[in-house]
Amino acid sequence: MKKCFFVITTFISAILLSSLIACNPDDDNITPEPIPTIDTTTVIIDTATTVVIDTTLQHTDTLSNQDTVKHVIIQRVANLTYHKVVPADSLAKYSTQVSVRKLEDDFKWLADNGYTAILPRELLTIDTIKPKTVIITFDDGYYDNYYYMYPLLEKYGLKAEINVIVNWITEERKNGWLTWNECREMSQSGRVEIGSHTFNLHNPTNGGSYILGGVNGVGREVDESDTDYIERITADLQKSKDVIKERVGIEPVSFAYPYGEGNGFINSYISDLFAITFFTNNGKFNPKGDLHLLPRNSVTMKTSLKNILK
Ligand SMILES: [Zn+2]
Repeated sequence: MKKCFFVITTFISAILLSSLIACNPDDDNITPEPIPTIDTTTVIIDTATTVVIDTTLQHTDTLSNQDTVKHVIIQRVANLTYHKVVPADSLAKYSTQVSVRKLEDDFKWLADNGYTAILPRELLTIDTIKPKTVIITFDDGYYDNYYYMYPLLEKYGLKAEINVIVNWITEERKNGWLTWNECREMSQSGRVEIGSHTFNLHNPTNGGSYILGGVNGVGREVDESDTDYIERITADLQKSKDVIKERVGIEPVSFAYPYGEGNGFINSYISDLFAITFFTNNGKFNPKGDLHLLPRNSVTMKTSLKNILK
């Protein structure tokens, strides 16, 4: 009862007070309080966590300038990385292999769940990254990418990048690698981007395989001088760009580190050569941030895309 009385009294007091204010004859002479400036000129929202992560804003004049308010939504992007596609589940014996059944399941899942795949080079020009955007990359340049994967891109409306070991791509088929004709055809379809995976630094002396305790990919040789190291790596990578441009017609803008091997010394020289570089650490990245050493998520037969993309 007391509570009810208090509410009614408060309500009546509020009405009286507002009518007093409304009737104040000095109203016209009161200098209005300045309207607070907007401190949300730019609101950047990390939609992965739905929290405002940046409200450093240019203050504009007044609330009347709301038309200048710009909402920029940063949608973090995941990269899904594959390598070789094999015809049956039983043949996928290594973590770098998936069966065509698994690949189609993944592509279908992306399409059914409203995901959009963009090419890496689109990161350089695209204004707005839609929610549920992914980048799909295939490393090394296997012929099965053309045979099994490429038709699935068309079927499910997706796009992918193939990072080729340039020296292993030939005009005539050799050892199960793509040919330049196939690279050209896929590139011209608009569904595939050809990126660099070095010209010939993918451990050619070890059949392309990782050397435990040895020099891998863009790693440094024992006792190699700074100058020699820089020259060896940048010459190889520049050659990879030149040959892809010559054979495919489009200069690559992205580079995938073989084995995810790199180091603070050489990374900066590699970043000078490519607008986008991909590493191998898991995670998502901000497509509006620095596009070097971006994380990638390896997809194996056991990987659930739902877990990566949650
Ligand atoms: Zn590789």
